[in-house]
Amino acid sequence: MKVTAIVPSAGLGERLNKKIAKPLVLLNRKPIVIHTLENLSKSKLINEIILVVSRNYIDAFRKNIKHFGLKKVKNIILGGVTRSQSVANGLKAISEDTDFVLIHDAVRPFISQKSISEVVKSAKKFGAAILAVPAKATIKKVDLNKSEVVETLNRDVLCEVMTPQVFRKDLILSGYNRLRKFSFTDDAVLLERLGYRVKVVMGSYTNIKITTPEDLIVAEGIVKNFKT
Ligand code: C5P
Repeated sequence: MKVTAIVPSAGLGERLNKKIAKPLVLLNRKPIVIHTLENLSKSKLINEIILVVSRNYIDAFRKNIKHFGLKKVKNIILGGVTRSQSVANGLKAISEDTDFVLIHDAVRPFISQKSISEVVKSAKKFGAAILAVPAKATIKKVDLNKSEVVETLNRDVLCEVMTPQVFRKDLILSGYNRLRKFSFTDDAVLLERLGYRVKVVMGSYTNIKITTPEDLIVAEGIVKNFKT
């Protein structure tokens, strides 16, 4: 069964306060996105990768892909203004014979082979699967306009979801086609809205998303010991 990975990398990463796009920021002398793509490329379960980038940085991405010899990257395409638009562009570029789509953020470089394999296997069995870890902190719903607590959520049933998220091609295409206008921050929610079951596979706390400057400090620590 053919698995195509879409790697949204078109964010500008303003919260990181760097002058270049976040996926191109160096981590241990290598762009973050290269760590991510190397780890995805190592998996025998992933057949090809579509990289989605912003117009301003397309040449820089192309140069890096060539320099690091990432042969599984079959296509580099332009993203949109939001992450979901970037993924939607990636979905338009997948080949006819793809059976499953794996979506993974460029800014999660520490994805292990074990997690990739478990989430892909679960998606092959159930149609849709995502990685998650139990929430460590207490999460409250807050009215930000009033700076007031609305509700305290029961931590025992809360998980922080991650990528990769893996879907049967027809399911994710139908989600994107039918709910295009609805605003969302992960891809699985589209299937949830359409009433499909999404399986949750336990991931690793190491699979952090690099978003703010503190995350980069943590990532510098993880990268020294990370074994894919
Ligand atoms: O902005 P956020 O941190 O949620 O981004 C998650 C991933 O989505 C990043 O890898 C980022 O490059 C990508 N993204 C994108 N297109 C956008 C915004 C974000 O591909 N317009």
